[in-house]
Amino acid sequence: MSTDFFIHQLGHPLLRQKAEPVESIEDSAFQQQLDALLAFVIDKGGMGIAAPQVGISQRFFILSSHPNDRYPYAPDVPPFAVINPEILAHSDTTSKDWEGCLSLPGIRGLVPRYEWIDVRYQTYAGETVETRYEGFMARVFQHELDHLNGHVFIDRVESNLELMMEQEWQKQIAHPRQKSHSDH
Ligand code: ZN
Repeated sequence: MSTDFFIHQLGHPLLRQKAEPVESIEDSAFQQQLDALLAFVIDKGGMGIAAPQVGISQRFFILSSHPNDRYPYAPDVPPFAVINPEILAHSDTTSKDWEGCLSLPGIRGLVPRYEWIDVRYQTYAGETVETRYEGFMARVFQHELDHLNGHVFIDRVESNLELMMEQEWQKQIAHPRQKSHSDH
């Protein structure tokens, strides 16, 4: 199966549209799209991708999690499909951390997200699930859900001072050099 997708970049109108609900999960063409997107995320080792990013204006995304530079304690969760998702409740407070996006390559932003969310969605098998996500999974879920509503992460950054280009982010945030005079 081909895992090649053309990823739409910021500026493409689909990234700014509200996506339509998925009507029939059992539809074989839809299942093929899900399989292809799951394979894509596995192939790229990414954390997730939303349907509008690959030109499908429907309400589903692929979510996964694994430990990484910024989130060494992120859980190991293989990619799975999240269809027609809703947030039922969320924490009062938000926390900020760094995000990036395949549709905005080369840029990172410090994004406030709810610390936990109670969600409902449908699975690949068409079952309805209600669960709570916190921390990294909650962050990625909110990032991908934003894509279904025409939002991207830079919309949520509170100041342009909290945007960085990838190269600087790698140097300063992901792999900062040890400070030489830290003991006073
Ligand atoms: Zn994204």
